[in-house]
Amino acid sequence: MKPAFHPRLINDPFSDPGLFIPFMFQRRALLFDLGDLSRLSARELLKISHIFVTHMHMDHFIGFDQLLRLLLGRDKAVHLFGPTGFLEKIEAKLGAYTWNLIEEYENTLVIHATEIQAGQAVVQTYASSNRFRPVETRREMPFMGNLLSERFFSVDGVILDHKIDCLGLSVKEHFSVNIIKEGLEELGLPVGPWLREFKDALYEGRGAAEEFRVTWRDQDKEFREKVFTMADLTKRIARISPGQKITYLVDMIGSPENIEKAVRLATGSQHLFVVAPFLDRDGDIARRKHHLTAREAGLIASRAGAKEFTIFHFSPRYIGREEELIAEATEAFRSGA
Ligand SMILES: [Zn+2]
Ligand SMILES: [Zn+2]
Repeated sequence: MKPAFHPRLINDPFSDPGLFIPFMFQRRALLFDLGDLSRLSARELLKISHIFVTHMHMDHFIGFDQLLRLLLGRDKAVHLFGPTGFLEKIEAKLGAYTWNLIEEYENTLVIHATEIQAGQAVVQTYASSNRFRPVETRREMPFMGNLLSERFFSVDGVILDHKIDCLGLSVKEHFSVNIIKEGLEELGLPVGPWLREFKDALYEGRGAAEEFRVTWRDQDKEFREKVFTMADLTKRIARISPGQKITYLVDMIGSPENIEKAVRLATGSQHLFVVAPFLDRDGDIARRKHHLTAREAGLIASRAGAKEFTIFHFSPRYIGREEELIAEATEAFRSGA
């Protein structure tokens, strides 16, 4: 089964954290955290539609300027999400530059920012055509854990304790569609753009009794068509399986409440990306800095039943000793203790 997302950490585990999540079938990507982005190409950065900032410590937010620099002058809208204090920080960033010439630009860059607080989301829009001043008054809506919901995937968040709020993040495909080649052959159907439309119809939740027309041109360029019901075609050519889930957990103290919340968010993940800044034996420092240990990271992965997990965001004190962090997390993952 080909997963719809191909997540990858942007930097090495001693550099700024961040997860780049390109989509398999579209020129589009999500970004978790906005630290140093210099390892991403302009082409990759331009694919990003939604950015989720876990918290505004510098290593998670300094990339805002890099991104703004690239997007300025383009006709584009980006959506940003962040925890309590996010709108104030965005406005401070935008307020740091002089925008007197920007109204002359032909294209408009629009930034939709959403601040996630306990129980509510506050939304504000900024546009280059307005010198990045707020476009309207802030809108409030309830927040019950869902940050973004689209046809084939959703992004959920949870507020974790890092002495400040820090968002834990999960992206999940609603389900996954696999096309059975033999089914196509039996029905005499060629592969083609109609398969994309068929998958879209499934993600849209088109009714089982509804008609689906498969159209193509044969070798003689003759127009061909076959009509099926959604249910029939699905049964013959598609295998539907649970969607892929990816979870990203960064800076937080390893308190029982945090671990509980993190496990709940990460449960059933194919791939969990979780920070492991300190060794268990340096647990005092970890707690002082409101961070996890490698053992706690492995425990979360184990309790969440993650198929695979990757640790990152190591303290520079372990340069050359990263194997110790990996060994400790792996041991906790295996033993669950
Ligand atoms: Zn950090
Ligand atoms: Zn932090």
